[in-house]
Amino acid sequence: MRIGVDIDGVISDSYPLWLDELNRHYGKNIPFVDDYNMHLSFDVSPEDMNEFFETNVERLLMRPEAISGAREGIESLRQEGHEIIYVTARTLDQEELTAHWFELKGIYYNQVLFTGFGSKLDAVKQWGIEVFIEDYLENAKLIAEYGVPVFLIDTTYNQEELPPGITRCHSWEDIIAGIRKISPKSS
Ligand SMILES: [Mg+2]
Repeated sequence: MRIGVDIDGVISDSYPLWLDELNRHYGKNIPFVDDYNMHLSFDVSPEDMNEFFETNVERLLMRPEAISGAREGIESLRQEGHEIIYVTARTLDQEELTAHWFELKGIYYNQVLFTGFGSKLDAVKQWGIEVFIEDYLENAKLIAEYGVPVFLIDTTYNQEELPPGITRCHSWEDIIAGIRKISPKSS
């Protein structure tokens, strides 16, 4: 199957580092991210937070660790015959840093769609993606409503009840097991 894989919160463990950096920058002590739109937790405008991200992009993209099990998970999926396409809300000007980070972490990196502020659902439609791995519930809902099963990594910012078509996963092992269930023989 052709599997769409988000990057931040799915492959890169970006949020703990970003939270740390934002707490320092804004002089706050927010213990965990409870809203994916972090500017709401920090009570600043999206523009203000974007500026912080743009100014510090290299550190913010290069320093995060990989999510536990992500490298091995991607390898398993590939060995089982699946095609991996990364679909990220990062922007095209972050391509070089993104590629460099994957290389540093030894994680498979090939096809990447940088949607920026565009729609991940459009990418799913355009590329015929059959399964999606995501951490942001709003994206997951749109993709699942379209009929593509979504495996949602459990995070502090996606604790709402899930609609049909979205499976909550607590680890990459969970994701692999879920994909095997819907695809006993890889295509
Ligand atoms: Mg994400």
